[in-house]
Amino acid sequence: MKDCNELPKIVKVTTTTYTVEDVAPENGVRFNYGDFHHMAVKHCLSWHLKQTKCFNCEKPFKDEDYMYLIITDKGNQFLCQECAQKFRIQLGKPDYVKK
Ligand SMILES: [Zn+2]
Repeated sequence: MKDCNELPKIVKVTTTTYTVEDVAPENGVRFNYGDFHHMAVKHCLSWHLKQTKCFNCEKPFKDEDYMYLIITDKGNQFLCQECAQKFRIQLGKPDYVKK
């Protein structure tokens, strides 16, 4: 009898498309990654602890980087400033004003 790990495997890669509905809403809260991560650790927030990189370009957040909320048809995510600006322009919204 083979070990379960030795059985043949079928790997399927799925692609998910997210429709961007809003990016960094003007009335949304904005915080830097350091504060966000500290809060996630303090309150054991498992979803928050996984938000370590930009949802679009996958660039890891640095402590001082601001995280920009993005609203998609499949839930909220976070973007880096560069990607937030890019999507705001695509949505016809004014470019995000830096700090
Ligand atoms: Zn990005």
